[in-house]
Amino acid sequence: MEPLTGGRSTVAEDREVGVPGDGAAGAGGVPPSVRPDLVALTGYHSPQVDVEVRLNTNESPLPPPAAWLDAFRSELSGLDFNRYPDRAATGLRAALAEAHGVDQAQVFCANGSNEVLQCLLLAYGGPGRSAALFEPTYTMHAQIARTTGTAVAVGRRTDEFLLDLEEVSRVLAATAPVVTFLCSPNNPTGRIEPPRTVEAVIERAPGLVVIDEAYAQFARSTSLDLVRGGTPGADRTVVVRTFSKTWSMAGVRLGYLVGSPEVVAACELVALPYHLDAIKQLAGRLALRYVDEMELRVAEVTEERGRIAAGLAQLPVDTWPSDANFILFRPQDRPAGEVWSELVARSVLVRDCSSWPGLTGCLRVTVGLPGENDRFLDALNESLR
Ligand SMILES: *Cc1c(COP(=O)(O)O)cnc(C)c1O
Repeated sequence: MEPLTGGRSTVAEDREVGVPGDGAAGAGGVPPSVRPDLVALTGYHSPQVDVEVRLNTNESPLPPPAAWLDAFRSELSGLDFNRYPDRAATGLRAALAEAHGVDQAQVFCANGSNEVLQCLLLAYGGPGRSAALFEPTYTMHAQIARTTGTAVAVGRRTDEFLLDLEEVSRVLAATAPVVTFLCSPNNPTGRIEPPRTVEAVIERAPGLVVIDEAYAQFARSTSLDLVRGGTPGADRTVVVRTFSKTWSMAGVRLGYLVGSPEVVAACELVALPYHLDAIKQLAGRLALRYVDEMELRVAEVTEERGRIAAGLAQLPVDTWPSDANFILFRPQDRPAGEVWSELVARSVLVRDCSSWPGLTGCLRVTVGLPGENDRFLDALNESLR
C-alpha cells in the first residue's frame, strides 16, 4: 500500500503528544482509561441462547439462491488475492447504481449499513454537532452517534410509534441537528412512515436526513425517489440499505447508501483505505443478478408475516402493523421478561425489547420458516394460557 502521509513517519510526534487525562501515567504507568464519554455505553448485544428456533435478529431464514453460490464459487478463483481490492468498488457500485437508476457517484458501500452510518457520522457529526432521532427506534443510531462524539437529540414517537411532525419540528428547532435519522420501516416497531411525513421532515430538517431502509423490500413504499434529482431537498436526503436482511447475506457484512455525490465523497474521506474487501465486492455484485429470487424470498416471508399477525390477533397481546420481516407484540397480562423466558424454555428465541426506551412490555419476533413460526405461535399460546 502506498504511504498515506507522504512517506514521513509520524510516530515520534505522536509519542511526544502523549495521552492526557486521568489514568494515563508516563513510562511504567497503568494503561489509560477509556474515553470518558464512552464509559456509560454498554455496547450492542443480542443474547445468543442455544435454542432450536432463532427468531431474534431479523435475518432471512432462507439462504441465498444456489445459483448465486455457484457463480460466487466459480468467480472466487479468479480473484487476485495478493492484490489490494478495487478501492472504489467500481463493479459493485455500478451494479447498485443501475439497480436503483442513479449515478455511480451517488452510491457508497461499506461493511454493513452500520458502517455506512458510522462513516456518515464521522464525516458530518463529531464534537459540537448533534444527530436527531425519534424513539423508540433502532438503538444503533444513538450508539454510533455517541461513539463518534456526536450529541444525540431524542424526540418521541406517538403511542402508535409513528412520527409526530410537531415533535419533529420541536426537536429540529431546539437542536439544529446536522443529521436527522428516520428508520422506515422502523426497527423494532415495524411501522412505516407515510411518504408525506418523510417529505415534511426533509422540508423541516436543517441538515442531512438519513433514512435507514434496512427493510425496504418488505414495505409498501421507499424514499429512494426523494434522492433522485429534481426533488426539493434531494441533495440532503440519504437512503441507507443493507444486504443483511432481504438479500440473505447477514454473514457477508455489506451495506450502502444512495445520496448526493457530495455525501458519497464525504464518506470516502473517512472510510479506511481498501475497507471493502474483494470477496465482499464480488458477493454483492453477483447477488444483484438474482433480484427475482430475492423478491420470491421476500414474498414468502411477507406471507408468513401475515400468518403470524393472524395468530397473534387470537392471543391476549397488543400488536402493530408491520412493513418489515418482524412483528412487535406486547403481552397484555404478563411481564415481557417472563414470557421471553417461557419461550426460551420451549426453545424459541425472540428479542426482548422491554428495556428499550418507550417499549415497556414489548417483545419482537422475526418471521422465520413456516415450521419455526408454528413453533413460535404454539409456544406463545402455551406461555400465555
Ligand atoms: C438490521 C438493521 C441494519 C443492518 O445493519 P448491517 O450492518 O447492514 O447488518 C441497519 N439498520 C436497521 C434499522 C436494522 O434493523
